[in-house]
Amino acid sequence: AITPASLSAISYGARHGILFKNGLHLERLAHLEAIAFDKTGTLTKGTPAVTDVITREGVSEEEFLYIVASIERYSHHPLAQSIVQHAQSKITKELKQPEQLEDVPGFGVIGSLNNQEIKIGKREFFKKEAHAFCPNLSESFATEGKTVVYAKDDQGIIGMIALKDMVRSEAKEAISVLNELGIKTVMLTGDSEKTASAISKECSVENYIAGCLPEEKVTHVKTLKQTHETVAMVGDGINDAPALAHANIGIAMGEGTDVALETADIVLMKNNLSKIAQAVKLSKKMNAIIK
Ligand code: ADP
Ligand code: MG
Repeated sequence: AITPASLSAISYGARHGILFKNGLHLERLAHLEAIAFDKTGTLTKGTPAVTDVITREGVSEEEFLYIVASIERYSHHPLAQSIVQHAQSKITKELKQPEQLEDVPGFGVIGSLNNQEIKIGKREFFKKEAHAFCPNLSESFATEGKTVVYAKDDQGIIGMIALKDMVRSEAKEAISVLNELGIKTVMLTGDSEKTASAISKECSVENYIAGCLPEEKVTHVKTLKQTHETVAMVGDGINDAPALAHANIGIAMGEGTDVALETADIVLMKNNLSKIAQAVKLSKKMNAIIK
């Protein structure tokens, strides 16, 4: 049953940009011990910008972007959308129609252009050839918190594209307050070790798990639940929905996908991460009143 105290807390939350679907989760927040965050679109704005384009000898930047964008325009991944936008600002001719397309969640896409297989995605999606392609440069991109995407044709790696996503302006402060409240913070991402390390530092998240496949987010939430009484998960994407459902408290970004919003127990209006710690404090206050 909803008590007057929780009712007034729920309406207080609603006025302050935190939408509680019911009183139970508001009460639970006071006991929060660990919180996992998705990276892209949650801690970061989710609109990465292309910063660097490196091609193999004999391939122009335009040619490379033309090939990659022709395939990526059919992917809904935020990286794909940014790459296509960047390519369209550089190339005037119409993009090509791929003959075949396959999404590989957590890794990238495979398409076919002029009967040639084109593979696009993170380094682990390829064999040694991607590790051998400009290793020093890719390492320094990752250290700057950039995500590196490779593309390959029949002759090998064609080039790589570095993208930088901005950490949300309130992220660092919001996470620091959670840390001060004694809540363990973890970032879950499919991105590389180096990039994850850089981004987690940028927003003061204590722990991170890199190379996390979409289905592994659930596993990590379950593991956290074994050692922590109450665990929350914050996410924005379709991929995050199962982990949101498995957490004791699922929190969705207000501009997240419909599935995330439907699955979550709490929605952060205006995507404001500071609202989480505020809600924890609100919950503690409310529970004190009830007692
Ligand atoms: P995240 O949201 O943490 O980046 P994903 O599981 O969506 O995690 O993707 C993991 C990684 O796989 C991305 O960082 C990217 O390097 C690569 N990737 C996935 N989809 C694509 C795509 N369509 N184009 C390029 N790279 C992709
Ligand atoms: Mg995301």
